[in-house]
Amino acid sequence: MKTVLLIGDGMGDRPCPELGDRTPLQAAAIPSMRRIAAAGTLYLADTVPPGFPPGSDVANLGLLGYDAREHYSGRAPIEAAGAGIALQAGDVALRCNFVHIADNIMVDYSSGHISNEEALPLLEALQAELGREGLTFHPGVQYRHLIQWNEGPSSPVTQPPHDIIGQEISNYLPQGEGSDELLALMEASKEILAKHPVNLARAERGDVPVTQIWLWGQGPALQLPGYQELYGLEGVVVTAVDLVRGLGVLAGLDTPRVEGATGLIDTNYEGKVEAALDALQHSDFAYVHVEAPDECGHMGDAKLKTEAIELFDARVVAPIWQELEKRGEPYRLLVTMDHRTPIELRGHTAEPVPLATLEGPLGGSDAALPEAETAFDEFIHGGQVDLRTYEWIPAWIRGEV
Ligand SMILES: [Zn+2]
Repeated sequence: MKTVLLIGDGMGDRPCPELGDRTPLQAAAIPSMRRIAAAGTLYLADTVPPGFPPGSDVANLGLLGYDAREHYSGRAPIEAAGAGIALQAGDVALRCNFVHIADNIMVDYSSGHISNEEALPLLEALQAELGREGLTFHPGVQYRHLIQWNEGPSSPVTQPPHDIIGQEISNYLPQGEGSDELLALMEASKEILAKHPVNLARAERGDVPVTQIWLWGQGPALQLPGYQELYGLEGVVVTAVDLVRGLGVLAGLDTPRVEGATGLIDTNYEGKVEAALDALQHSDFAYVHVEAPDECGHMGDAKLKTEAIELFDARVVAPIWQELEKRGEPYRLLVTMDHRTPIELRGHTAEPVPLATLEGPLGGSDAALPEAETAFDEFIHGGQVDLRTYEWIPAWIRGEV
């Protein structure tokens, strides 16, 4: 039995005036997701346990079959695992965003999605001036970086910058025990970045310069029970982002790096599909994660988000489903998203999302896929929630539901 999960990060939304008061899932041309919903079983799902923030970390942990109420120590330790950083005893990992703040307003959580080429020298300058014994800046992807801090502060209250876009930052700065150490590091980064040639060139070109680092999502190393032990399954997690790759690493699954997988709408969809289908030739599990719809939600671009969802349907869901049918082996397919990233908020919510499952092969002649469609959006089942993923997914992976 092949078990396959296809996750479009942040696809869920609310009605958008620019889409005729439809959500992107309603406005998008998504025949494959609607056909899977029609041929299979459709649910409205809660993906975030009560009391947890609607982060991609908590929600993807639940979709992968782990309950964050048992297994969670912060976002950065998961990303550290995904980046191959081995946290030692006493180490705390912190997410380090390159942000643009002006007049105390969080203008941009990604500094205009700065490229790796420009981010790296900035991070090296921070490491050179602020790095020390037991405190290391580790380069990540684009605006996402990490700090490994031995005996660092793990308990301050911190805030994801992508959830406070356009807002005054004073109420969202690190608070509580150890927050002064984080604030000192954030403050010290301003001068180093302000005079850096890369930033001067960005400002000259009219690009968004990095004005400081923003620290959040901290925690000690996370241990997860292995997937083989928990579900008797081997397989892959295919993703462009260190967070979801980190979950795969901690679960003991393979995490192939796909050339050209960017986490943006121009990602290498075909490369990701190939990596998943290749793995399913010799193993029984694949988790394919596409980040682009979420980034479009944070950018507040309804049209681009609709396009990202259509690309996910046409270049990930359709080819994988078709190939599973062609191969003719028994499979269980699940399509959903980890949370909503409403355009009107440009941030995450824990509102319920549609989730469809299908058991195959359906045995159509020449592996033809059924054409009947049904709605796959936030308004199914009259808004009545059918399941909580963080409790239900383990039973689904085990074939008990
Ligand atoms: Zn997400």
